[in-house]
Amino acid sequence: MGLLRLLRRPPALWARSPTRGLPSPIWAQHPPPCRPSGGRPYKAVIFDMGGVLIPSPSSVATEWEASNHIPSGTIIKALVAGGEKGPWMRFMRGEMTVEGFLQAFGTQCSEMIKLPVPVGSFFSLLTSGQVAKQFSVMTEAINRIRAEGLKTAVLSNNFYLPSGESFLPLDRKQFDVVVESCLEGICKPDPRIYKICLQRLQVEPTESIFLDDLAHNLKAAAQLGIHTIKVNDAESALKELETLLGFSLRKIIPNTCSVRKTMEIPRDSLEKYLKNFLGSQAAVSGPMEVLQFSHGQSNPTYSIRLANHHLVLRKKPPGKLLPSAHAVEREFRIIKALHDAGLPVPKVLDLCEDSSIIGTPFYLMEYCPGQIYKEASLPGLDPSQRKAIYTAMNQVLCQLHRVDVKAAGLEDYGKHGDYVQRQVQTWTKQYRATETSTVPAMERLIEWLPQHLPKAQKATVVHGDFRLDNLIFHPEKAEVLAILDWELSTLGDPLSDVAYNCMAHYLPSDFPLIKGLSDLDVTQLGIPTAEEYFKMYCRQMEIPAAENWNFYMAFSFFRVAAILQGVYKRSLKGQSSSAAAEQSGKLVEFMSNLAWDFAVKEGFRIFKGLPTPKLSTRAYGVWASRRPPLLPGGTRSLATASKAPQAAAPKGVLIISPEALPEPVRELHGRLEKFIETHVYPIEQDLRNHQMSEARWTPAPQIEKLKEKAKSEGLWNLFLPVETDPERKYGAGLTNLEYAHLCELMGKSLYAPEIFNCSAPDTGNMELLVRYGTELQKTRWLLPLLDGKIRSCFAMTEPQVASSDATNIESSIREERGGYVVNGHKWWISGILDPRCQLCVFMGKTDPHAPRHQQQSVLLVPMETPGIKVIRPLSVYGLEDPPGGHGEVLFENVWVPKDHLVLGPGRGFEIAQGRLGPGRIHHCMRLIGYSERTLALMKERVKSRVAFGKPLVEQGTILADIAKSRADIDQARLLVLKAAHLMDVAGNKAAALDIAMIKMVAPTMALRVIDRAIQAFGAAGLNSDSPLAQFFSWARALRLADGPDEVHRATVARMELKR
Ligand SMILES: Cc1cc2nc3c(=O)[nH]c(=O)nc-3n(C[C@H](O)[C@H](O)[C@H](O)COP(=O)(O)OP(=O)(O)OC[C@H]3O[C@@H](n4cnc5c(N)ncnc54)[C@H](O)[C@@H]3O)c2cc1C
Repeated sequence: MGLLRLLRRPPALWARSPTRGLPSPIWAQHPPPCRPSGGRPYKAVIFDMGGVLIPSPSSVATEWEASNHIPSGTIIKALVAGGEKGPWMRFMRGEMTVEGFLQAFGTQCSEMIKLPVPVGSFFSLLTSGQVAKQFSVMTEAINRIRAEGLKTAVLSNNFYLPSGESFLPLDRKQFDVVVESCLEGICKPDPRIYKICLQRLQVEPTESIFLDDLAHNLKAAAQLGIHTIKVNDAESALKELETLLGFSLRKIIPNTCSVRKTMEIPRDSLEKYLKNFLGSQAAVSGPMEVLQFSHGQSNPTYSIRLANHHLVLRKKPPGKLLPSAHAVEREFRIIKALHDAGLPVPKVLDLCEDSSIIGTPFYLMEYCPGQIYKEASLPGLDPSQRKAIYTAMNQVLCQLHRVDVKAAGLEDYGKHGDYVQRQVQTWTKQYRATETSTVPAMERLIEWLPQHLPKAQKATVVHGDFRLDNLIFHPEKAEVLAILDWELSTLGDPLSDVAYNCMAHYLPSDFPLIKGLSDLDVTQLGIPTAEEYFKMYCRQMEIPAAENWNFYMAFSFFRVAAILQGVYKRSLKGQSSSAAAEQSGKLVEFMSNLAWDFAVKEGFRIFKGLPTPKLSTRAYGVWASRRPPLLPGGTRSLATASKAPQAAAPKGVLIISPEALPEPVRELHGRLEKFIETHVYPIEQDLRNHQMSEARWTPAPQIEKLKEKAKSEGLWNLFLPVETDPERKYGAGLTNLEYAHLCELMGKSLYAPEIFNCSAPDTGNMELLVRYGTELQKTRWLLPLLDGKIRSCFAMTEPQVASSDATNIESSIREERGGYVVNGHKWWISGILDPRCQLCVFMGKTDPHAPRHQQQSVLLVPMETPGIKVIRPLSVYGLEDPPGGHGEVLFENVWVPKDHLVLGPGRGFEIAQGRLGPGRIHHCMRLIGYSERTLALMKERVKSRVAFGKPLVEQGTILADIAKSRADIDQARLLVLKAAHLMDVAGNKAAALDIAMIKMVAPTMALRVIDRAIQAFGAAGLNSDSPLAQFFSWARALRLADGPDEVHRATVARMELKR
């Protein structure tokens, strides 16, 4: 199969993208060395430069001397006479500047012939573009040598140019190693320089061949055991080289090499067959040349030249095969049908199903000369040419997908419908059959893909491996002459071909299988982005752009990952200790992670696609006479209304139970609840244990895993209110009221908020960035925060001042050195100890003399900035709350650039107020969740525990406690929902009284409920076997952390008195 061939390409050094935290590179191996039949196993060919690859200095000197009336041989005589210490050799060792050399060498020449010798003009000629050009026969030979898997090197006595660069008029990419005397300080024939070259090539002397025009250089090489060729003229030197290597160096058929030992075909019977077959069409004579294409190793493919015929033969591989695999008969059929339908495919000539000819069935096609572009970035082309190539590729794909299957006689070429589903099943099965260890992303994909299959699928001919390097282009224009490699073709969903075609866009440029585009500026290169490419396809096909594009990308990468897993398994069998085998395993992980990234994006899309709730239809202020809506099944919903304090406020419904939420949000609520029950509760004890283990200051891997899952299910960033993010660019676009119901659910587990990227202090900081951040600040901080890749903290509270009054804070932000310098002592900074914490939102004073509320500013301080010292973690009732913790921190002369200031100097108070808008009530919403879960646990416990002859639940005091808790929770919830609703319909300012009231009420209510439950649990209630003890301590902390109760009470009282 086509992909397999990619694995056999010369691997490049490859590092996975740092943003993904992927494994480090290896893949520094070469393809197997050339072992021509009868030849020695050479691994490298080393070329001298002057006189071998480009004209020799002596021939240039002869020409120059003749035209400058200088006695012939002057230059060479001076060179030889100078010896090791003469200017020429010193120049070659890099010991002299160009100027110094010209002066010394000029003087030496002039003294020798007693005439002025203008060596500067000789130097100019020697290094000029018209002289210093590589011989084309040598270029062809080098390409050929490399195509056979041998390494190449240049080993040259060379010199520096006035520019400071060395003189190297060659394309460096042709060589694995370039060794130049001026860089090494050693010249040929010193044996050390040959050794350097061999060492860098990683070959033994006997494994290499050296070509030079100077006998003494060759002698030194031969003494080391290197095989040598004296170059008098390029033609005869290449002949000698061909004999040594055992393959031709001249007749270049692109992408071919001599036939590999294991892939040899019986030449005599093939030749006989061909002469028979072609005999009727043309006179046949002369020897037959057989080469193997580097393409199509799954179905080996050969270039056959016989007389004036040039054919391509494609056959099944040797050995025992599965009946349906490597079906060359199918390939022959589809190519023929498509050729007849006018598609650019090679013309097929014959299908031979008789295995007696060459051992397996095969078919013949006409050779199609042209250009194959192997790299997606199309190096060497200009932007307009690249654009044209991509457009042509897109057009030919459309042409393929437009083929009338019936008219082409291909109706039975594959099953109709459910292509993707069948593919997912097939590749899952294949993957399972070759699985070697658990790859988490593959597991998630195996679960996710079947649940997100496209609903409507068209059935067209699909290529199955449609890539740039499976196309032959016209050598001069952007026109596809032939589409190759039809092994995976069938009838199926055409969008899968388009997505597969775009995979290179997401792979790095040094990726070992396909050189991708992900780290290149495609727009600058003239290449359409994946999105543009997909749109181009849809436009041409006159179809609307499929919304589930990310699904198709996930599916494409999954399929490749499954294929690679098979390759890995096989390579493990073949090479027990091979590094390459180990790496192909890593590629499975890499590809599946990429696939999962797309699954996550698709999750977002589905979620974002939920209809936007219309605020005006459920604004605050509906009268009691309004009947609540009927629920399915005829029951009345609990949605109700109350009277608005502001007469001008729009009217709407206060939804007090999740059942009355608009359908999409209700559905979301259901999924969130199920997620928490299924995935979060069962691991809570492990997470508590992790928080007490030595690894507690590192994120718990289980949380990280669940974050990915939550993301993919669209249960992510639910907190950002629609009023802050009206275009739903960043979040789920829920109202505060809707979120209140969801946030309560998350509050039921202390670990849940982070899993859904809805935890403090990130939520407040993200909202701050959405509201006040510049585009630059958003790109740097908001996007990774929204992605859950980094975390943040908010630094306001200071030990030396009463920080419940934010105007007290003393830390300074001073303008200095074109930026701001921060000094201060902070504490209780939640999250700062988390290794993922990269941003500190810092509150300090820019102007202590400004009016009281204009002294403060907010600055974004990267945590990596020098001068930030976390002194210690603080604990709450002995709980350190790792990995984020609550830190005491010193900021000493911390400098940040000016553009890190938010909104402007003196705007800090305003921002802090805004920051604490919706975020202010999230804690209250969660406290309702703590309480609800606590009551549930209490009810369960008291039903099962017997004391003094009867279950606890029958004790009157327990019953009273349950009743009080139920009433407490419901009262507080109503107040929380009312505050949230008011924020939605009347704004944060109008909701100030209600916000203060719930902050005053919710923590103490939760403390009462939790305290009753702890009492009912007995001593077990204090232990960390249940969440009760932690709930209690956090509810207690929130009586301070969210601002002290007294401050909220004072606010409520002041406002009440004004009414
Ligand atoms: C778990 C936890 C996490 C925290 N996380 C952060 C964080 O991430 N970032 C951050 O900057 N800060 C954080 N804090 C700090 C928190 O915001 C402050 O503790 C809070 O604002 C109170 O400030 P203070 O501790 O300086 O108390 P003070 O201001 O010294 O007040 C002490 C007490 O004085 C009384 N008091 C104050 N004002 C009044 C009043 N008007 N009327 C009557 N009595 C009054 C109250 O009883 C109050 O508790 C956190 C605190 C905790 C416990």
